[in-house]
Amino acid sequence: MADKPFSATRVAHLLMAERLSPGDRCIDATAGNGHDTVFLRQKTGERGLVAAIDIQAVAIESTRNLLRQQGLETGCRLIKGDHAQLLSLLGNDWLAAARVICFNLGYLPGGDKQHATQSASTLAALQAALAFLAPGGLLAVTAYPGHREGASESEAVAAFMSELATNGYFVNSWSGLSTAKPAPVLYVVRSCA
Ligand code: SAM
Repeated sequence: MADKPFSATRVAHLLMAERLSPGDRCIDATAGNGHDTVFLRQKTGERGLVAAIDIQAVAIESTRNLLRQQGLETGCRLIKGDHAQLLSLLGNDWLAAARVICFNLGYLPGGDKQHATQSASTLAALQAALAFLAPGGLLAVTAYPGHREGASESEAVAAFMSELATNGYFVNSWSGLSTAKPAPVLYVVRSCA
C-alpha cells in the first residue's frame, strides 16, 4: 500500500491521544460527521464524557449514527447549537473541566457550505473555550486556508493564536508543505500555568 502524507487531523489525533485518559471530559466544538467525537469517546471511555456540538441538526444526527454504529453512545452528550455560546450550551460545571477541546473548522463534508464556520463566531468560541480547558488541557484547532470559504477565517485564527502566544499560552502550529494550495493548519494550545 502506498504511504500517505500526515494529515492535520491525524496529527491532531496523535497529540490529543497523548493527553487523554479514560474518565476525562472533552469537547468537540464542531461535531460534523462525528469522526472526532468517536475518536474522543474511544479515548475517554464510558466513564468519561464528550460534549459534541454542531450548529446543524444534520451533523448531530450524523454524529449520533456513527456513535450508534460503533456502540459508543454512552458517555457522549450531543448538543445542537452555536459554539460561540459555549457557556449557555454547557453550563458552569464544565468550566476548567475539559482535558481536550477540538475545533475542526470549515464545512460539513458532503453538506451545505453555507453552514461553514465563520470568523466572528469562531473567534468568540475560541475565546470562550479557554475558560473550559482543565489545567494541563489542550485546545486543538484545524483551519483550512486553502478553501475559498476558509481563507479569511484562517487569517483571523492565525492572528488570534499569535495573540495567545504572547498572553500566557504555549501555541504550536503544524502544517504540511504543498505547492498546490495552502495546506490545512493545526494549532495546539496549552496554558503556561
Ligand atoms: N469534526 C467533524 C468530523 O469529525 O466529522 C468535522 C467538522 S466539519 C469540518 C465543521 C462543522 O462545523 C460542520 O458540521 C458545521 O455544521 C459546524 N459548524 C459551523 N458553524 C458552527 C457553529 N457556529 N457552531 C457549531 N458548529 C458549527
